[in-house]
Amino acid sequence: MTSRTTRKFALCDDDLPESSIPKRTRPFREIDPIEYASMWTPQPPLHSELNLNLSLGLSSTEQPQPPPPLHFPQPQPQPQPQPQPHNPFELLMLQPIHIPQPPQPPPPPLQPQPQPAPRRIRRNPTHAPGPGKSLTILPPFPWATNRRAQVHNLVYLTQKGITTISGEVQCKRCDQRYQIEYNLKEKFLELAQYIAKNKHCLHQRAPPVWLNPTLPRCNLCHQENSMKPVIAEKKKSINWLFLLLGQMVGCCTLEQLKYFCKYTGNHRTGAKDRILYLTYLGVCTQLDPSGPFRIQ
Ligand SMILES: [Zn+2]
Repeated sequence: MTSRTTRKFALCDDDLPESSIPKRTRPFREIDPIEYASMWTPQPPLHSELNLNLSLGLSSTEQPQPPPPLHFPQPQPQPQPQPQPHNPFELLMLQPIHIPQPPQPPPPPLQPQPQPAPRRIRRNPTHAPGPGKSLTILPPFPWATNRRAQVHNLVYLTQKGITTISGEVQCKRCDQRYQIEYNLKEKFLELAQYIAKNKHCLHQRAPPVWLNPTLPRCNLCHQENSMKPVIAEKKKSINWLFLLLGQMVGCCTLEQLKYFCKYTGNHRTGAKDRILYLTYLGVCTQLDPSGPFRIQ
């Protein structure tokens, strides 16, 4: 029943005004942002994990290994309820009842049967590349993997000494272009705390601050809110981690966001606030797979 409901959402999100889409009512896992931050800040266990990973000889061309849990307490596995039959045929199979049948009338003349509506076929339901696209790519940045729309996790990045993430920005007023840098740990922690604190009330939609990012100030003409990120024309070369740390993912088009979701296996229909939310949490999950970023 749940999957049927979900499919209905997927088909309708594009067509319905937002107000008519029922809000999800499933409970969210409680996340304590202070706990998350405090587990993040002292890092001695990270170093031992790093040493362990170093001994495994990871290199930039390899796939990211599933990292050991960083610091966030793992939720206890919940006992899964046994699926209950919800379909009358299944109920009948479980409880066969003998019903005396009345004499059958003669069969009616054959008539054309109404055909069931064709099921919607999802294009490329896995996140494999389409025809003519290679499985792996040349990593566009040292912090990106050789998979489309996939960045390395924090353990790997710290191990490799990657502590700042750079990207190109261009002034909307004077057109100057230059590179800016973000401190990986500082900016990610800021974002992670925001998500931990607000996830339960975002209702799986990007907040306005993500939809309309505040841009950096121009160093040359001093215009405020002016430096927009330069987003690669080739989607496989988009600097997702830079956009995330600057909280400028919302500068991407819906098509670019859908590309991210396509290659990371997420639901990818719906309005921009939905897809943007999935993208934010998707990049965060890549960075810290054990953090509070799983899509519910
Ligand atoms: Zn400027």
